[in-house]
Amino acid sequence: MHIPREEGRVVALCGGVGGAKLAFGLQKVLGSKLHVVINMADDFEHLGLHISPDLDTVLYTLGGLNDRQRGWGRADESWNFMEAIGQIGGETWFALGDRDLALHVERTRRLANGESLTQIVQDIARNFGITAHLWPVTDDPVRTVVVTPEEELAFQRYFVALRCEPAVRAIRFDGAESARLAKGVRDALQSEGLRMIIICPSNPFLSIDPILAAPGLREALRAADVPIVAVSPLVAGQAVKGPTRKIMDELQVEATTASIAAHYGDLIDGLVIDVGDVAEGAALSVAVHAAPTLMTDDESKIELARNVLAFGDALARTARKETR
Ligand code: GDP
Repeated sequence: MHIPREEGRVVALCGGVGGAKLAFGLQKVLGSKLHVVINMADDFEHLGLHISPDLDTVLYTLGGLNDRQRGWGRADESWNFMEAIGQIGGETWFALGDRDLALHVERTRRLANGESLTQIVQDIARNFGITAHLWPVTDDPVRTVVVTPEEELAFQRYFVALRCEPAVRAIRFDGAESARLAKGVRDALQSEGLRMIIICPSNPFLSIDPILAAPGLREALRAADVPIVAVSPLVAGQAVKGPTRKIMDELQVEATTASIAAHYGDLIDGLVIDVGDVAEGAALSVAVHAAPTLMTDDESKIELARNVLAFGDALARTARKETR
C-alpha cells in the first residue's frame, strides 16, 4: 500500500534534555509514526548499576514523568537512597533518586540476563505509555571520553563530577568503530514510508556526534532520500543549558548558527534557527527556517515540532520539483 509521504514515519536523532523536549512535541503530533534514535555513549557503570542518562531522559520526558523544575530525573522523586549511601561512606557525586533507582536496577538485571538495551528500553517505554518507538543507536558499548589538557575523562566524570569545568581539547567515542547499528534503527531508516529525518537541538558534539559515529548510520541517513533537518541548539547565540557554548569556545568554533550548519555539513538539507538568530541565517549555504525555538512548556514544544515538520515537507516538495 502506498503511504503519502506526509503521513510517513519520522526519525529523530536525540540526546538528553534539549532533544527530548522536541521529541515530546513530535510525539504529540506524530504518535507511533515517530522513531527516536538516542545517544547511549554517555552510559556508564556506577555502584554496580548500568546507567543510561540520555535514554532515561527520553523515557521520562516522553512518558510525562520528568521533573520540569530540576530539568533531569523523575518528578515526585525522593532521596532516601542517596542519604543512606552517604551515611555509609558510599559515592554520592551522581544523584540517583529512589524511583529512578528502580529503572537502573531492572535494566542492570536484564542486561546481565543477556537482553539487549533495545529490548529493555522498548518494554519500559510501553510500560510508561509511550507511543513513539525508542531506539538506542547501538546495543554495543560505546563510551564518550573527554580529552582535557591534564587528562582523559570518562564522560560522567567530566559532566557531573567536574561540572564541565575542565577545558575540552577533543572528544572521543571509544568502541564506536566496532559498534553495530541497532537493527531497529536500520529498519526505521528504510526509505519506504519515510517522511523526514530530524536532528534534535541536542549538543552536536556530545549527543549527536556519538550517534553519527555508529558505523553505517551516515550512509543510511543519506540513502533514505528524504529531507534531513537539524534544529539549532543555540538561541540568540547562547546554549539554553549545558556546556554547548563553552565547548564551542574551547574547540575554537564560533558560537553561531553558521557553525552548527558547518558542523553537520552536507548531511543536512535544512536548519531551523531561532528567530533571535535570523540576522545570521541569511548568510548560510543551507536552507534556513526561523522559528521560536525556546521550548518552555508543552505548547512551545508542539509548536516547534509542527514548524520543523512543515519545513521538512516544504523541502521535500522543492526537491521533487527539482527532479521532475
Ligand atoms: P543533555 O545530553 O542532557 O545535555 O541534552 P542534549 O544534548 O539533548 O541537550 C543539550 C542542548 O539542548 C544544549 O545545547 C541546549 O542549548 C539545547 N536546548 C535545551 N533546551 C532547548 C530549547 O528549548 N530550545 C533549543 N533550541 N535548544 C535547547
